[in-house]
Amino acid sequence: SRSELDYPFKLLEYFNGFRVSKVIFSACEQGVFDLLLQSQKSLSAAEVAQELGTSVDGMERLLDVLVGVEVLEVELTDGTAYYNNTDVANLYLAKNSPKSLYNMIIYQSQTIYPLWNNLGDAVREGRNQNEKTFGLSSEDIFSAIYRSEDEMLKFMGLMNSSWVIDGPDIATAFDLSRFKSIVDVGGCSGALAREMAKVYPASTLTVLDLLKVTQMAQKHFCQSDDTIRFQAGDFFNEDLPTADLYILARIIHDWKEENSLMLLKKIHTACNSGGGVLVVEAMLFENHRGPIMAQLFSLNMLVQTEGKEHPPSHYTHMLTTAGFTNVQERRRLLLCAVKLVW
Ligand code: SAM
Repeated sequence: SRSELDYPFKLLEYFNGFRVSKVIFSACEQGVFDLLLQSQKSLSAAEVAQELGTSVDGMERLLDVLVGVEVLEVELTDGTAYYNNTDVANLYLAKNSPKSLYNMIIYQSQTIYPLWNNLGDAVREGRNQNEKTFGLSSEDIFSAIYRSEDEMLKFMGLMNSSWVIDGPDIATAFDLSRFKSIVDVGGCSGALAREMAKVYPASTLTVLDLLKVTQMAQKHFCQSDDTIRFQAGDFFNEDLPTADLYILARIIHDWKEENSLMLLKKIHTACNSGGGVLVVEAMLFENHRGPIMAQLFSLNMLVQTEGKEHPPSHYTHMLTTAGFTNVQERRRLLLCAVKLVW
């Protein structure tokens, strides 16, 4: 086989990767996957273009790339190409599928992509690019993230999407059944708390988040038979509710070390005796040489927040500094690792 030196396959794939991302973003935004799911039959490029109000030529090229990356299937009838979703597209890319990643894709497209346009500046300056990208203060990261109702809904949709795929694995990474009261600190739309409630029906699950977030969650993300409750609060400026277990999912990676430590110490004080913390983050390997997704997230944290991703030993260090003992670690999937302390 030819080596990368003979021909730079990998390099070419990597630096063209943004084009593939954009094709998927654009197809989602234009509703290609929803149309193909609803139509119940394969459609030609002309039919898709007609339905979605696009040019036929542009749509045909877009659809062909989607076939090329194996997101769509194509069949030729009387010389005309007819396109259909793959099962994967039906499951993950269509907007209303129970496992839809649509919200994740929209957020990547409309917020993360413009931020990453300023990656060079983020690296040079060592700070987030909210100001340059969106004209927002780089100090208060959640004011930037929640700059409008629409943005807030998109961010919550993104957070919600990830637990659709990773939630069950995280909920079962440890046996948490002995923790009868569980608070998901910064629990956003409540998606992880709901997954926890499924696995631990004898425990009460409370989502603590900023008032505007809990209001939005109750308006847009709640079911009538919801198994979780919401409590409004500011985890930096207000007391935390007492509980047996606190979940910190993708919280520590947002903040400067001193702020994360302050939060962990508060949790230690509020925690019932015998209680614990479950830290869920995209953990780096100890030597920082992967996983690549965690390395990319760490760069994302630079571009968007005040924090970064860490290896497990760093979380152990923070947790023990805050007063916790008995740290255990489980690595799950690509993105998530879990630590339990009591
Ligand atoms: N834990 C959720 C998850 O993993 O899907 C959400 C993680 S998100 C990166 C951070 C969360 O922290 C957001 O829901 C945000 O509203 C919340 N948050 C930020 N600052 C907060 C504060 N001072 N008090 C309470 N919640 C806060």
